[in-house]
Amino acid sequence: MKIAVLSGKGGVGKTLVSTNLTNILSKYTKIELLDCDVEEPNSNIFFNFEFNKKEKINLLVPEIDNQKCTKCGLCADSCQFGAINVFNHGVMVFNSLCHGCGVCSIVCPHEAISEKEKSIGTIEYGQKNNIYFGQGLLNIGEPSGVKIIRTLKKHSKNINLQILDAPPGASCSVVETLKNMNYAIIVTESTPFGFHDMKSVIEICQKMGLKMGIIINRYDKDYTEIEEYLNKNNIEILEKIPFSKEIALMYSKGELISQNDKYKIIFQNILNKIGVVQ
Ligand code: SF4
Ligand code: SF4
Repeated sequence: MKIAVLSGKGGVGKTLVSTNLTNILSKYTKIELLDCDVEEPNSNIFFNFEFNKKEKINLLVPEIDNQKCTKCGLCADSCQFGAINVFNHGVMVFNSLCHGCGVCSIVCPHEAISEKEKSIGTIEYGQKNNIYFGQGLLNIGEPSGVKIIRTLKKHSKNINLQILDAPPGASCSVVETLKNMNYAIIVTESTPFGFHDMKSVIEICQKMGLKMGIIINRYDKDYTEIEEYLNKNNIEILEKIPFSKEIALMYSKGELISQNDKYKIIFQNILNKIGVVQ
C-alpha cells in the first residue's frame, strides 16, 4: 500500500502524521518513508538517518546560439512559464523560471536552442532497522521540485508499504507525489483557513480518483462547515489529534509522539481505518 500524507498549507501536521505512522508500522514490518516536501524536508529530524546514497539532480535548460537565431519569437510564445524572451539584441533565458520542459528547443525552426544541465537539488537515501528513508532537497530559488520528487520515487526501494510526506499546498509537486498512490491522508485544522485549504487538496485527490481520509490536527473545537462538507462528500474523518502542549513540546524536541502510549493509539486507529494491518 502506498499512502501520501498531504495538507493544503504548511505547518498543519503532515510530518507529525507521516513520521509517527512510519514509526508504528516499522515495529511490525519493513516500510519506506519518502520525504517529498523538497523545499523543507523535516522527517529526518525524528529519525536521524545517515545517508549512504546521494545523487545530484539536474535540469536541462536552454542555451541560445545567437548566430543561428533569427529572433522569430516562437520560443517565447511557446513557453508557458515566461522563462524565455526575445529582445532587439537577442534572446534571453531566465533560468530561475525555467521548468526544463524542452518545448522551446522543439519549436525553434532554426535549431538555435541546445540544452545544458543546471543543478536544481539532491536526493539522498538511508536505512535504519525496518525503515528505508529517502528525501529530496530543492536548491533555494528553484521554481519546481517535480523532477526531484519524480527521481526520488523512481530510485526508491519501492517497498510494498510506502508513506510519502507530500509538499504543502496544491501545486504540480503535490500532483507528482500523488501519482501511483493508493490512499491520501489529508491533514487539516478545525478553522476557516483549514477548511479552505483542505478543499483544494480534496479536489486534486478527487480528480485523480484517490481514496482519502481526513485527520484534524490541533483539535479543540468543531468547525461545523468541515464536518458538513466531509459528510456531503462521503469522506471519513480518520482521527482528531488533540490540541496539546505536551504534543507541541515533544514535536519541537524532535520526539515521536507515538512512543507515548497515550498518543500511539491515535495512529493505530488511523492505520486500522485505512486498512493497514499491523
Ligand atoms: S525560436 Fe529559435 S530562432 Fe526563433 S527566437 Fe527563439 S531561438 Fe531564435
Ligand atoms: S525549457 Fe520550457 S520552461 Fe524552459 S524556457 Fe524552454 S519552454 Fe520555457
